[in-house]
Amino acid sequence: MQQGQVVKLDRGFPLVRLAGDGSLVRCEHATALVKGERVRAVIGDHVEVAYPEGHDKAIIERILPRARAFVRKDPTERAVPQVLAANFDRVIVAQPLGDVNVRRLERELVLAYETGAAVTVVLTKADLAESEGQVEQVRTRVRALAGPNVETLVVSALDPASVESVRALVPAGSVAVLVGKSGVGKSSLVNLLVGADVQETAAVREGDGKGRHTTVSREMIDVPGGGRIVDMPGVRGLGMWDADEGIGAAFADIEEAAARCRFRDCKHEGEPGCAVRAAVEAGDIAPERWDSYRALKQETATVRERREQARWMRGEKARRPRAGAGVGGRAAGRKQKKGR
Ligand code: GDP
Ligand code: ZN
Repeated sequence: MQQGQVVKLDRGFPLVRLAGDGSLVRCEHATALVKGERVRAVIGDHVEVAYPEGHDKAIIERILPRARAFVRKDPTERAVPQVLAANFDRVIVAQPLGDVNVRRLERELVLAYETGAAVTVVLTKADLAESEGQVEQVRTRVRALAGPNVETLVVSALDPASVESVRALVPAGSVAVLVGKSGVGKSSLVNLLVGADVQETAAVREGDGKGRHTTVSREMIDVPGGGRIVDMPGVRGLGMWDADEGIGAAFADIEEAAARCRFRDCKHEGEPGCAVRAAVEAGDIAPERWDSYRALKQETATVRERREQARWMRGEKARRPRAGAGVGGRAAGRKQKKGR
């Protein structure tokens, strides 16, 4: 049995880099691993692989517990989590400077904070900004959203020097995960960091005449002079999964106000002495922000209820978690906080 890390995931078989000699091997999952439970290795997973005699692929026998996971609700299921990446140190959220999607940014920040990793926002395509004034304005707005602890960087593919600030965020030995809607310039950023076209950019993709075609391949790419970066293309929906802590971090202003409400169980629905309502009315909390907060809270609550229901239906309450349930499924939601 050898240890390794999943460094590429596409439609085929996980590619694992072995810890010993760094060689790459195509793997498939052991039947015992995928039977019943939907445990699958994701990019960044540390795994144990075996080489059975006469087998053309190595077998992933075990997925080691994840120190960190980026989890969303599986878009195709009612109440199932989907882990998109594991064992990283930083989440880099990319948004185009000239066209920041605030609602999506809120979600990205919530899920990023929820992982417990360091979080950075990168505003891309700065060359398309109308003026230096616009750059500063957007930066200030994004800072207000992301909170004081999150660095907000501005980059442009036309200005390779601007990308150096991103390189500094991925020091040797660390792993960063890049999230952002398709088309925001993630691949271009990775290519600049690497100094070669390792990721196909949209301009290339459009050539197939089938409209926008999204690659689903996730790959851990070595950043020269730094660590490794994972581009996560094709992540459209970002449904909440067990995100209360992430919401608390992304909406710290609201949670701080809530702590000052007269009633501890204040629902902020018109109770007397509600500090949240007061802050919204005073203009300290933007009404849209308050709406987002409530919607995201509701979304996590709903998915939690569904999950409980599903568990109850399966009569799972009384069952002991199976050995090896340390990853995937339920455990993915039981993240390990490690400061940020
Ligand atoms: P991804 O889907 O997030 O990986 O985005 P891509 O890197 O494929 O970029 C989408 C499109 O935006 C492509 O046509 C890129 O050439 C373009 N693009 C990316 N970065 C920049 C930039 O900094 N400035 C400008 N003007 N265009 C960019
Ligand atoms: Zn209140």
